[in-house]
Amino acid sequence: MLNVDYIIVGLGLAGLSFAEQLIKANQSLIAFENHSQTSSLVAGGVYNPVILKRYTPVWNAKSQLEVAMPFYQSLEERFRVTLDNKFSTRKVFKSIEDQNNWYLASDHPKLTDFMNPQTINEQVKGIRGDFGFGEVYQTGRIDTHLLVSLYRQHLKNNKTIRSEEFKHSHIKLDQNGVLYKDIRAKKIVFCEGYGIKSNPYFNDLPLNGTKGETITIKAPELKINFLLKSTLFVLPIKNDLYKVGATFNWTDTTPTPTESGRLELVEKLDKVIDVPYEIVDHNAGIRPTVKDRRPLVGIHPKYSQLAVLNGLGTRGVMIAPTVAKQLFEHLEYKKPLDQEIDILRCKKKDFQKRLHS
Ligand SMILES: Cc1cc2nc3c(=O)[nH]c(=O)nc-3n(C[C@H](O)[C@H](O)[C@H](O)COP(=O)(O)OP(=O)(O)OC[C@H]3O[C@@H](n4cnc5c(N)ncnc54)[C@H](O)[C@@H]3O)c2cc1C
Repeated sequence: MLNVDYIIVGLGLAGLSFAEQLIKANQSLIAFENHSQTSSLVAGGVYNPVILKRYTPVWNAKSQLEVAMPFYQSLEERFRVTLDNKFSTRKVFKSIEDQNNWYLASDHPKLTDFMNPQTINEQVKGIRGDFGFGEVYQTGRIDTHLLVSLYRQHLKNNKTIRSEEFKHSHIKLDQNGVLYKDIRAKKIVFCEGYGIKSNPYFNDLPLNGTKGETITIKAPELKINFLLKSTLFVLPIKNDLYKVGATFNWTDTTPTPTESGRLELVEKLDKVIDVPYEIVDHNAGIRPTVKDRRPLVGIHPKYSQLAVLNGLGTRGVMIAPTVAKQLFEHLEYKKPLDQEIDILRCKKKDFQKRLHS
């Protein structure tokens, strides 16, 4: 019999963020990963504290960045790689009105640290548009594919991950914790992303899932070192490669790339850049999105041995380290969860009303 403190189901951004909490606290773990979901592997990995559609601050952006930046830095040191590629983001203005909205928003106390109040009125070779750009600071890209791959390998080297499907029907609960096949643990934390739909303990949570597709292009004439944001993002990677995305599809629940997704991206991209490019890759995944745009974190109302860490939505990079820390402190030290992320909110009447509005 293998005795561990925690079983983690799912090793994407949520799972590895929770694993880090355990490692820091000298708690033991075993993770399960069946490669059924791809969200953390295909993510753009962008962190950006400003919602560029409305020029409003991202929920708790400042405090999330304060936890996330040292978190990724410590992983860079452990794995001796660069995960955090820092660059500014430039929003392409559509009109004079758009520029004016930028000036107004940059004065907002929660945005002054992040938005350059001066607009950039230059033409950049390869980018269409006559109204210039607005610049956001403290943005960048975490290479989530590299991070998740290295983390899984790290657990594999320590024999603390099993590459197999976790089968919920094998769980046995008792007063000492949980028994799963040959493993005894205090608790299980489910970090399954959209895979939560097959989890009989938590599949009643209002996670809807939004499929996203990206393409990677090679565009040697597009020499930009910032993230370009228009109707889509164009994200510099290296050697003339750019990741372009993403689509939003609320009905298709397969994590595979589609021809219609590719066409949608190409059509939009052709309105944003005017240099030749070649598509070299195409990916898809399901974002674990929630109607009220808040994570789903907490303990099962009936079985205190079971907990969930999910609903990271479109911003897993910024949110995951913070919510993993909150869940760990809740489980170990009974520190109350922020009500906005606690799954208990989903039972409340006002949430139900919003859900059906
Ligand atoms: C196209 C696209 C672009 C995105 N861009 C960004 C971005 O730029 N910035 C950003 O912050 N976020 C972005 N996101 C969102 C981000 O990817 C998610 O918020 C985040 O990755 C979710 O992490 P997760 O660990 O909760 O879920 P997942 O990454 O889905 O991980 C869940 C894991 O659980 C495993 N699993 C599920 N069920 C089982 C089971 N029964 N047994 C074993 N294993 C199981 C799955 O295989 C999977 O590996 C993007 C997403 C997509 C799809």
